Amino acid sequence: MKYYSTNHTAPEVALGEAVVRGLAPDKGLYMPERIEKLPRSFYDGIASMSFHEIACRVAEAFFGDDIEHETLRKIVCDTLSFETPVVRVEPGIYSLELFHGPTLAFKDVGARFMARMLSHFIGRDNGRVSVLVATSGDTGSAVANGFLGVEGIDVVVLYPKGKVSEIQEKQFTTLGRNITALEIDGTFDDCQRLVKSAFLDRELNERFRLTSANSINVARFLPQAFYYFNAYAQMRRAGENGEIVVSVPSGNFGNITAGLFAKRMGLPVKRFIAANNSNDIFLQYLITGVYTPRPSVATLANAMDVGDPSNFVRVLDLYGQSIDAIRADISGARYSDDRIRSILADTLKRTGYLLDPHGACGYQALKEGLQAGETGVFLETAHPAKFKDTVEPIIGQPVAVPQRLAEFMKGQKLSVRLPSDFDTFKRFLSDRQ
Ligand SMILES: *Cc1c(COP(=O)(O)O)cnc(C)c1O
Repeated sequence: MKYYSTNHTAPEVALGEAVVRGLAPDKGLYMPERIEKLPRSFYDGIASMSFHEIACRVAEAFFGDDIEHETLRKIVCDTLSFETPVVRVEPGIYSLELFHGPTLAFKDVGARFMARMLSHFIGRDNGRVSVLVATSGDTGSAVANGFLGVEGIDVVVLYPKGKVSEIQEKQFTTLGRNITALEIDGTFDDCQRLVKSAFLDRELNERFRLTSANSINVARFLPQAFYYFNAYAQMRRAGENGEIVVSVPSGNFGNITAGLFAKRMGLPVKRFIAANNSNDIFLQYLITGVYTPRPSVATLANAMDVGDPSNFVRVLDLYGQSIDAIRADISGARYSDDRIRSILADTLKRTGYLLDPHGACGYQALKEGLQAGETGVFLETAHPAKFKDTVEPIIGQPVAVPQRLAEFMKGQKLSVRLPSDFDTFKRFLSDRQ
């Protein structure tokens, strides 16, 4: 299968090149040239299939031409080493819990899949790759843990000193092995600037194969389709036989785009809701018809603090640039920090279900958006314990910390402290081997 750029001015490439490059040379995002509709028989039997069986079938549709069947099956099964259960919160409303992976957030699925796929493609020409990633918190932990111990890949995580929570920091600074954490004396923007400068530096690129584990990578966003299918299978088993409405807490719109692909493949989703925090660029686009990116503002649901969603161009491309087609499939919603607080507290009181600040947006958008007779599922994208400091004062009680998160807290921080100038960073990268 070929991948084209959303800007249509770069050559089409094979899967391997799309994965290693990440971004197309014309700065567009890669899209698969075809989206295969899965046969009726697959949907008829889906309720009796396991998560691995479902995911393998979906993976085959995208990657089956380019990766041999057994290898692909192994990549899928290694990636999905945990469940994505659907839990009933109240009549008609289900939560798709995506926080049962190693770092307790949905990004584990995409990061683990991408690590294994990248390792597969570089393994063929015996390369070694350095993955550079700048993080303000969550991406660093998912990428570092996703790539931990993967053959042929070194990961360097850059993060701003004193600006990530202790829980987040521990998730990528305690790992060791092929993961190096750099604590930069500066801001997140400084970290991002260092990474970008490294990609542009001729000398570094001659000596090392550098790549990014950015969320725009096709190997990171497409595998997220797996759990939409698995959610549907579970809802069927729970006796919900109709089309479902799906609400997705959204920032860069990678997660919801994977859902839109699933719908194109025939998954019975009636429509989607994109739930935003105060960074409601997408909602404004739906209302006004004009896409107006703007600087992000900090909110309680900070993984969705995005002012120019990078996957928006994929949504446009998927719908042939037609806002009417987009409006027919996706609606929007927006919640301020005050609303997030009250939604979280009220839902716990009323239903006993504890949301995290991102899931709170998804839940409420679904609750307000469901019409009579509809059933829906919202994506609970992270475990509330990851945002313990935010959640506890809101609900006035302690949040239980799952065992695997507590394990990270016991680990010893191994980061290297560096100033924010490029020369020092370059020297560090060069001296590593
Ligand atoms: C990354 C993230 C999001 C936003 O997902 P996108 O794919 O960027 O839209 C939502 N919730 C949590 C907890 C996240 O980490």
